[in-house]
Amino acid sequence: MRFFIVMLFAWATSIAWAAPGSVAILQYHHVGNDTPRVTSVTAAELDAHFAWLKENKFTVLSLAEVQEHFAQNKPLPDYAAAITFDDGWRNVYQDGLAVFKKYNYPFTIFVNPKLMREAPHQYMSWEQLKELQQYGAIIANHSNSHWHMTWRHTDETDSDWRQRVLSDILDAQDEIDEQLGTQAKHFAYPYGEYDPQLEQLLEEHGFLAFAQHSGPWTAATSLTAIPRFPASAQYANLATLSTKMKSLGLPVVAIEPATMMMDHDMLTPSFTVELAHTDDFNPRQMNCFAGSSVLKPEWSERRFTVQLEQAIPEGRSRVNCTVPSRAKPGRFYWYSQPFVRPNANGTWPD
Ligand SMILES: [Zn+2]
Repeated sequence: MRFFIVMLFAWATSIAWAAPGSVAILQYHHVGNDTPRVTSVTAAELDAHFAWLKENKFTVLSLAEVQEHFAQNKPLPDYAAAITFDDGWRNVYQDGLAVFKKYNYPFTIFVNPKLMREAPHQYMSWEQLKELQQYGAIIANHSNSHWHMTWRHTDETDSDWRQRVLSDILDAQDEIDEQLGTQAKHFAYPYGEYDPQLEQLLEEHGFLAFAQHSGPWTAATSLTAIPRFPASAQYANLATLSTKMKSLGLPVVAIEPATMMMDHDMLTPSFTVELAHTDDFNPRQMNCFAGSSVLKPEWSERRFTVQLEQAIPEGRSRVNCTVPSRAKPGRFYWYSQPFVRPNANGTWPD
């Protein structure tokens, strides 16, 4: 009888939704001491992050391997991560090479081929990228020009915009494939900015697209809005980064609004997230962090709504919501809602 109860308990807990695989993606830009701190880690910090992944028995996967795990519904290790660098700065080669050789983890570098041609002293060369391929690098697409891709030019029609940004993406892909052989169609949005039209364009052309709001990648994540955890500057601190690396993804079914793009006069937007059934957390324990304020979401069955109280700044911002897991003590579900609020001219700073 006791055996039967144990079996029943095991069965009951296994059907409770408890995050069937969450992958935290680290996002870096520069590696160095003399680069803009806001987008930099030092080589020592990068080494410390990689050492931490090793000590904590993380499985580091390429983005294609993660994609395959989710597509084939293969189980993921309890602690899984991926590593990415945006822009292809030359210092990633100069200061990162020794670290890449030491750990031999797979990592993805998102490059802008047009900028590589225009400012070769700033960016890694194709030869350097090829050398890094020997130590785990995978080269992917960050567009040709690194524009704010959602901006429409004055008098530009929707179809002109589509043609302009699509060429910028596909020309970059052609050059990457020509230089390195056909690569996975993985795209990182410049500045992490996207809207539904841009997502649709990328999806139509078979790309996976990576953003810059935080949170882990799960089976429930939209493949044109895959979050990554910024790991530079103040975010490089392992005291806080470690919690993010171990975070779990919510079983998101739908998000409202479907775009991060706000109107200039939308100072205090709200957002609603609908979840699949889960009893792995207590909804009352969810906290959402918006600027300096901590907000409590309003729950209605499986939906939570967060109403901002302080005006969001012009440009990019995000609200992060966390709630502790019951099944995995010490680990948190992490959800991030990105916003872009334009200035009165419809633009915003880099
Ligand atoms: Zn970039």
